[in-house]
This record gives sequence, C-alpha cells and structure tokens, in this order.
Amino acid sequence: MNNRLKFNQILANLQQTCILCASHNGENLGLCQPCLKDLPWHTTTQCPQCALITNGGICGSCISTPPSFDATTALLTYDYPVDGLLQHYKYNASLNLAQTFASLFAEKKHTQLTMQNAINLIMPMPMHQNRLKERGFNQALEIAKLLSKTFAIKLDYTSCKRTKHTPPQASLNLKERIKNIKGAFSCQQNLQHLNIAIIDDVMTTGASLNELAKTLKQAGAAHVECWVMARTLPK
Ligand SMILES: [Zn+2]
Ligand SMILES: [Zn+2]
Repeated sequence: MNNRLKFNQILANLQQTCILCASHNGENLGLCQPCLKDLPWHTTTQCPQCALITNGGICGSCISTPPSFDATTALLTYDYPVDGLLQHYKYNASLNLAQTFASLFAEKKHTQLTMQNAINLIMPMPMHQNRLKERGFNQALEIAKLLSKTFAIKLDYTSCKRTKHTPPQASLNLKERIKNIKGAFSCQQNLQHLNIAIIDDVMTTGASLNELAKTLKQAGAAHVECWVMARTLPK
C-alpha cells in the first residue's frame, strides 16, 4: 500500500465528521443519519436482471436482448450526491468510503441471500494493469474484499483479467462502449457450476458487466449476478 493510501486510512480513522454535511455525527459509516436517509436509494421496483426502474418486471431491453448476467442488485441510484461520493472514492482512494459502501450494500443484500441463489465466488470488475498503475488501487476490489469478509464468500481477483487496455467507457456512447469492451477480459480458470457475484462501483449501460459475465459463462459459470453500488438511470 502506498503512502497516500496509508495517509487516507489514518485520516479516516481520525475523522468522525459526516462526509456530506460536515456535522460531527458521521459515526462509523462517515455519514450522519439524516444524510444517510436522504441518499437516493435504488428502488426495489426494478428489472431483476439489469436494475432499470420498471414496475418490478423484466424490462423491454432485457427481453429483446437478454444480457449474459442473470440478476443485478444496485444499492443506490447514480445521482446527487452519490456521483460525487463515488468520484471522490475513485480518484482520492478514500478507503473509508469503500467501507461505507460495502456496509450499506451488505445491509441491503443480507435479507436477499437465500440458499436458492447461493453465491460461491465474489469477483471484482478487473482493472487493466496499466490503469491500476495510474490509479494505485482497484475501487471494485476494495469493496469486494469487504463484502467477501462480511458474507464469508470466497474472493477471486486473479482468475479473470482485463487483457485489453481500452479508453474509459465514460467518454463513449452505448454502441461504442460495446465495441470498446468486446474481448477485453480473459479467464484462465474453470468456473464450472459456480454462482458468481461481480462487484462494481457504477453500472451505466452494463456493457462492461455484460462482457465480463459472458466471459465467466464461457469459462463455465452457472449463474452470474452484478452487485453494484450505484446504477445510472436514463434521463
Ligand atoms: Zn450529514
Ligand atoms: Zn432489464
């Protein structure tokens, strides 16, 4: 861990102030109760497969072009102030925010983890090694580590790699995103019979998650679901 990461962790332990309103009631999540309550929590009346808002049924897009993943759980809607929190987490390596997101996600997911859809493996969205060098940490991996510990589910961040260094998806439209991400992952491991949860910070069009899910299914995975901290909704 580099010095900047260490410094941020020390800072996090010192700070009990709320990240959003700077009141001194940040408690252990770094957010005070009123700010927590005001977050744009992702509604449960969503497409079970891709988490777009519907009346609870499968959305038209998942019916016409079914994605390779089987289900999605989104904690928050990617909107103010979640966008700022996630940007801050990603670009400042605020590891205390990984703890915040993981704890909130675990709380939401806890009641849904039944024997029927038991997950055997937690896998973070892989980052290309060039980008990892630039940023110093994989934001999805830090959250995945915490969720793996909380749920006592095995963590795997080595079997599947991002072998294609691509421009950031954020600058591209849907068609370009699909093209950009095609063939970006490679998986060396036999994943036969495994039920896998992919962890990512934000799901926008779902193109990266879909490509990764496709790769995991090709490696034998039986069931793949996406666990994302925030879901972008069409404006
Ligand atoms: Zn607050
Ligand atoms: Zn859908």
